[in-house]
Amino acid sequence: MIPLTISMTERDNVAIVANDGGLPAGTKLPSGLTLLEHVPQGHKVALVDLPNNSPVIRYGIPIGYADQDIAAGSWVSEHVLKMPDARELDNLPIATVKPASMPPLEGYTFDGYRNADGSVGTRNILAITTTVQCVSGVVDYAVQRIKNELLPKYPNVDDVIGIEHTYGCGVAIDADGADIPIRTLRNISLNPNFGGEVMVVSLGCEKLQPQRLLPPGSIPINSNKESEKLDVVCLQDEAHVGFMSMIDSIMKNADEHLKRLNARKRETVPASELVVGVQCGGSDAFSGVTANPAVGFCTDLLVRAGASVMFSEVTEVRDGIDQLTSRATTPEVAQAMIDEMAWYDAYLKRGKVDRSANTTPGNKKGGLSNIVEKAMGSIIKSGTSPISGVLSPGNKLKQKGLIFAATPASDFICGTLQLAAGMNLHVFTTGRGTPYGLAAVPVIKVATRTDLAKRWNDLMDINAGKIADGTATIEDIGWEMFHMMLDVASGRKKTFAEQWKLHNAISLFNPAPVT
Ligand code: CA
Repeated sequence: MIPLTISMTERDNVAIVANDGGLPAGTKLPSGLTLLEHVPQGHKVALVDLPNNSPVIRYGIPIGYADQDIAAGSWVSEHVLKMPDARELDNLPIATVKPASMPPLEGYTFDGYRNADGSVGTRNILAITTTVQCVSGVVDYAVQRIKNELLPKYPNVDDVIGIEHTYGCGVAIDADGADIPIRTLRNISLNPNFGGEVMVVSLGCEKLQPQRLLPPGSIPINSNKESEKLDVVCLQDEAHVGFMSMIDSIMKNADEHLKRLNARKRETVPASELVVGVQCGGSDAFSGVTANPAVGFCTDLLVRAGASVMFSEVTEVRDGIDQLTSRATTPEVAQAMIDEMAWYDAYLKRGKVDRSANTTPGNKKGGLSNIVEKAMGSIIKSGTSPISGVLSPGNKLKQKGLIFAATPASDFICGTLQLAAGMNLHVFTTGRGTPYGLAAVPVIKVATRTDLAKRWNDLMDINAGKIADGTATIEDIGWEMFHMMLDVASGRKKTFAEQWKLHNAISLFNPAPVT
């Protein structure tokens, strides 16, 4: 076995061990350095003597400071690393980096569903919006009946789903922050994959009334031109006598929407119609070496093709805020990023924690010592393009290019907010492994290590571990991802999460109190 270690920049004074199973004490690296102890796969080895309090450098920046004298060839675990404080949010470099403009990428297309408002869907799905958790059981029952009895009549419709959630009542609906879950739900119901066919099931007495969720004029892509009225089935309506009459009402309304959805046809559209959300979860030290850099390369391809790409996860970019503000296209974009970070700092402070609450036991076992190291590997997903916009949680994206969509790093909450932003394709990288999926949008999952890609061979769509193995380059995997996106968006290919119907729940971000 050839010992393989990976440094990210020439300034790094640590490298990670790439070999499966790690490397034993006594291993001589090609550089001549001998390991003083066993270093697990994905974990860091000191390339030089690191005196107590000296910076430990990875990705060219200090990810921490030595907590003791560390000899060259030692394992640099989280136990010997002190975490630096978060960068203050003042005196940041603002729009200082002007990335060389990259040539446009032309001629790439996919087959999608063009909506009346110009947005494009990658799937054709009937979504039943709910105003409150109380109706979920009824909607579940109705969805099963619709799938069994109605869907076979409409071969062009891919699926029927209930947009179920825990919001809607028992909440302080006028509190600061309550607008976030409400606009998230509204914008999810307008996701391009649902074709503007909004139908709502309401209980009747809930705080989140249908007209508050979807006020008049809020459904721009409704293809139901005959009726301006919001389609609502209210379970407490006096016309409903017994459970079956509720189900009959839902099925009757669903049938009308299915007829129109069934008439949708895929047409060839430019790759610029992709709205891609990128995310990582269950990260390890390879995330920032293989999968995330490949996503970053692909992000640049998408931006060159004129598409929209969102990267998110505030706590995972907080430690690299200076990199982000410097890449902003304008001072206003930089300031919007700073405002989102400041809001999140204050939000975490209310719970007496900070961004270091992010890392998990699995992250650490996988070699990520702290949030600084994790953040540096996470930001790489954004590639090198200028950052041209910032989106607050729950808002709908209205521009092309590379966008910072501020969300928590929680996989399900981030995915939910990216759905609300109008995402029509999702890319998710993982090192520890997660079967993550969404019912509304295809999720392409990327493994950071070959070991995971082999074990989870029917869950991982792309193996970026080949980059660490030396059998593929970052560019190779980035292009593979780009082509797979066009195939998946066109419906020519299904992701494993779609094949197995693995769906995580809609998880609303509600920073406001419940009652
Ligand atoms: Ca995440």
